[in-house]
Amino acid sequence: MGIYVGIDLGTTYSAVAQFVNGKGVNVLRNDIGEKYTPSVVCIEDGRITVGQEAKDEHAAGNTNTAAFYKSMMGEADYSIYLDGGEYTPEDLSAIFLRELKEKIETENGVTVDGAVITVPAYFNESQRNATLNAGTRAGLNVLEIINEPTAAIIAYGLTGGARKNVLVYDLGGGTFDVTIAEINGTSVNILSTNGNHQLGGKNWDHEIVKELIDRFREEYGIDINEYPEDFKKLQVTAEELKKRLTKTPVTTASVSCEGYVGKYEITRELFDLRTSDLLNTTAILIQQCFDEIGGGFGWNSLDEVVLVGGSTRMPQVREYVMREYGRPPVTKNIDVDTIVAAGAAIKAGLCVEKKITHNGLIVLEDDIKDITSHSLGILVYNNDKEAFENSILIPKNSDYNKYFSKDYYVSKGNVKIYVLQGESEYPSENTLLCRYEIDCNGVSGQTKVAVGLCYNNSGVVDVKAETDGGMPMKVSRVDDIGTLDDIMAELRKEIDASRSPYSKWAGVSNIPTTDRDRFGNPEGAQYDLAGDGSFKGYKILILSLFGASNFADAIKALKVKGFEVNLINGMPSDLKSMIYEYCQTWVISGISRTISNHDVKTLVDYYNKGYGLYLWADNDPFFGDINPISEQLFGTAMAGDSMGDKVLGIQTRPGAPGLVADHLITTGIVSFYEGITISNVCNCRNVTPLIYGSDRQVVSAYYDRDGKRAILDGGFTRLYHKWDSAGTDRYVVNAAAWLANIERHGYTPSLK
Ligand code: ADP
Ligand code: MG
Repeated sequence: MGIYVGIDLGTTYSAVAQFVNGKGVNVLRNDIGEKYTPSVVCIEDGRITVGQEAKDEHAAGNTNTAAFYKSMMGEADYSIYLDGGEYTPEDLSAIFLRELKEKIETENGVTVDGAVITVPAYFNESQRNATLNAGTRAGLNVLEIINEPTAAIIAYGLTGGARKNVLVYDLGGGTFDVTIAEINGTSVNILSTNGNHQLGGKNWDHEIVKELIDRFREEYGIDINEYPEDFKKLQVTAEELKKRLTKTPVTTASVSCEGYVGKYEITRELFDLRTSDLLNTTAILIQQCFDEIGGGFGWNSLDEVVLVGGSTRMPQVREYVMREYGRPPVTKNIDVDTIVAAGAAIKAGLCVEKKITHNGLIVLEDDIKDITSHSLGILVYNNDKEAFENSILIPKNSDYNKYFSKDYYVSKGNVKIYVLQGESEYPSENTLLCRYEIDCNGVSGQTKVAVGLCYNNSGVVDVKAETDGGMPMKVSRVDDIGTLDDIMAELRKEIDASRSPYSKWAGVSNIPTTDRDRFGNPEGAQYDLAGDGSFKGYKILILSLFGASNFADAIKALKVKGFEVNLINGMPSDLKSMIYEYCQTWVISGISRTISNHDVKTLVDYYNKGYGLYLWADNDPFFGDINPISEQLFGTAMAGDSMGDKVLGIQTRPGAPGLVADHLITTGIVSFYEGITISNVCNCRNVTPLIYGSDRQVVSAYYDRDGKRAILDGGFTRLYHKWDSAGTDRYVVNAAAWLANIERHGYTPSLK
């Protein structure tokens, strides 16, 4: 049976460790007996070497070698050319891991079955995903990707016991990471993390390189910068010298170029002085972490300081911690170079064993939980559709493996969701991860869909979508999607083309707002179905066969929406020649039939061409003029004489008094006035009920099919009596917006 290991895939060095329950961590040695292996790859003449051999080649100036590729991990357009081939950082990591796995297996006589791989805490989703892919491609069963500082915390045995704050200072070869975590039992809550993936031991080396180049130039007048091979050798010399300075306060370097040799003495004091800016950069990043946590968080808020990474061996780092923190960092009998691999090994152990024991004692009983270090959001348009925003679903420092959902209204087709990682409300200040496409072909009309985002245990994003009824929808991920700027430009075009005058609340009856009028309806024109001025250029014809009435309030409300209204008392003689100027016609019935067959036919033709028809009636016998039209169109007539005069709510049960919920016309309406005396739609076979009166009969019904729209309404008195009762004004302007039938005709006043 194979073993589970922890792998610290470092920028400069990598280490592999195994946890043996009851015995502890065993750092596995590579083919040359070392506990860590340089993360360098060399490909030459089709032959692959990694580790020290490749590092030596790199040092000797061989250009078929790659080092520090981890710092470019997850960057889409970055690749390195080796031996005529093109490799991404993920490719190189996959090659390196495959070779490393093989070295470890042969040297230790084991088979590696699974591995936990570590990444810096600030690694974003694409960097984690790339690491995960590299591991899988290397033939590893990647159990999980975990954060390097969390691994260190596990290895130092800091979990469990009282709640404490820990600062992990990780200075490696090519990266610096600082992480402040709050440990509470077994959960590791990363309060803040910061890093610079271009800052590490190599920068300290480089200061020595510059110093030696200066001294050599002074002595021989030769600039080693111009001799690439010697320059690379000098880099090795500098690193060795730096390591010696960790042990002794002064040492000598031997530098050669063009056959000349120079010997130069370097003191730790000079080294510390030349590198003080670098150390200071780490201090600034730490301060930013403190500031981000806020509330006066600082060095004295910390219970422990943990050092990780080979470069923290430098005395200047320990001195700095002592100076600021006043106490020494935690030490344990584990090397700073292998502590991360050790923690990953314990985590791998937890994947198989539920309890981790050491010397007969239970060390860990529960899994260690990390929480997210980056917020995750979705690219959305803001409320007034003027700009894009990052709508954050998962705030940073949330639990992994938990879905965070939000409701969206979708219509038929493929809905595209762009996922952003980062904290800024401005999309461009975040990282665009990928696009998810939700298959909405099964939905009809505007449907509420809950979209949930989740970070899985490895910090890789997962998305699910389901309808209101809990039906899961098919979601697929697309990774190669181009730049955010291009995407936003494309989306802006699509949105501009389909811009609807309907408000974002379209179809929602009970709008969640605290600003309400005295009838409980949301206050403010923005909750109407259409925005103010939306229907500029659209005209409404009102034919009042009822006789002269006061429609002033209704006309005023319609004008706010941009409609131009022409009220005619009685029937014009030339209806047919003038009616097509209007996007909709309202016919207000008289007491008995006065409308001619000819005008009925004109109205029927007009309606059949897709123009809106509002047929208003009232209590018996005030339906004489609309029944001939209604009978011809729907086989339905108005009848009855009910006493209404009540304020109705939104229907709670089918057939109960009230408005049918969530129709476009009922947008923003909670309560509504039914009219003083009403007639009813007596046969609803071809029309759909919209309002049930207090007598439980259908007062109003609509037709909405084949691109045609009409309303039959027996509550005419609400139009001019008690206009300011409940939601009458909103109802009327919504009905007019709906009858304009923009879904059929498009939002351009093309109806002439
Ligand atoms: P990474 O995690 O980036 O791969 P490591 O944690 O393995 O890196 O640290 C490698 C760095 O540590 C190198 O820059 C190396 O020069 C430095 N280093 C190793 N040992 C010492 C030492 N004794 N004194 C100073 N620096 C050291
Ligand atoms: Mg490291």
